[in-house]
Amino acid sequence: MGAGTKIIVATNSRPGSAKWCNAFEGSLPDTQFIPWDEAGEPVGADYAIVWQPAPALFVRETRLQAVFNLGAGIDSLLGLPELPGNLPIVRLEDAGMAEQMVEYVVYGLLRAAREFGVYEAQQQASEWSGLPPIDRLRWPVGVMGLGAIGERVARAVAQLGYPVAGWARRSREIDGVQVYGGAERLPAFLARTRVLVNLLPLTPETENILNRENLEQLLPRAYLINVARGRHLVEQDLLDLLACGRLAGALLDVFRSEPLPKNHPFWSHASITVTPHIAAITLREDTVHQIVNKIGNLKKGLPISGRVSREQGY
Ligand code: NDP
Repeated sequence: MGAGTKIIVATNSRPGSAKWCNAFEGSLPDTQFIPWDEAGEPVGADYAIVWQPAPALFVRETRLQAVFNLGAGIDSLLGLPELPGNLPIVRLEDAGMAEQMVEYVVYGLLRAAREFGVYEAQQQASEWSGLPPIDRLRWPVGVMGLGAIGERVARAVAQLGYPVAGWARRSREIDGVQVYGGAERLPAFLARTRVLVNLLPLTPETENILNRENLEQLLPRAYLINVARGRHLVEQDLLDLLACGRLAGALLDVFRSEPLPKNHPFWSHASITVTPHIAAITLREDTVHQIVNKIGNLKKGLPISGRVSREQGY
């Protein structure tokens, strides 16, 4: 780095690239932020800041030293064959997303446990009728993925007094959260869970993990909250398990195909709530702050966190 650093900013739309470019403008000395132009010439960029960029970026810009992803999930980026195998990738870590995710998951949990859907239906019939108080011990929550976002969610739900467990590759200590580590502990984790929250990255190991075999191991009348990626879920398995009453409901923010097609059965399903991939949105200010700090550290030759492991896929 040094004088004359060039950073190309490439998102999935021309206005998106321009907006992010403006957000970064002036944040680093001697640095030019250049919006990606599909029809443009190579600019000799040192770094790229991207969200679902055109694959041609990696063919045209051959001097890149690192790529910064404008999101936590890097599955779509890693899926690009044009991405050079040795190019370091840095993802967003929290950057204001964890607290949004806490709100979303708590909403889904309370809607299920406190049966707010029942009251919505009762209001339609002008019916005044209260349900008995709930016993939180009957609503054990299980969070799959205890990363930058999952750990915050697990801690927040534990604070509300629900029994909480988490599942990750490696075990660790988290106050108030029972942690299950590794594939061999998945069955035990599922067997004690009634509200399953998915916050795993999408990798070859986790794709289709929300399938019949795994969902059937949950406690009876379980709920699914999928906020990670659509390709974690085998959609027909969810529909089958809801139809036979094995699962009671689902709150889904992510889908195999987005936007969710108009004729998709999830839209009109009485036990499924759909939101349009808004559980935790990338916040401009926090994101600029985080990426600029990391570039500053790289400049000083310091290590940075959030480096993606190509081997692990996250
Ligand atoms: P992190 O990379 O910080 O955490 C990933 C977690 O998953 C880690 O705890 C990791 O275990 C665990 N994990 C990975 N692979 C496995 C496996 N094979 N078995 C068990 N555990 C595994 O991710 P974030 O918390 O930042 O984000 C998680 C995901 O949330 C993102 O990848 C993205 O897809 C999704 N997301 C969705 C948003 C939305 O709006 N819907 C917004 C933001 C993110 P370990 O700790 O042992 O390494």
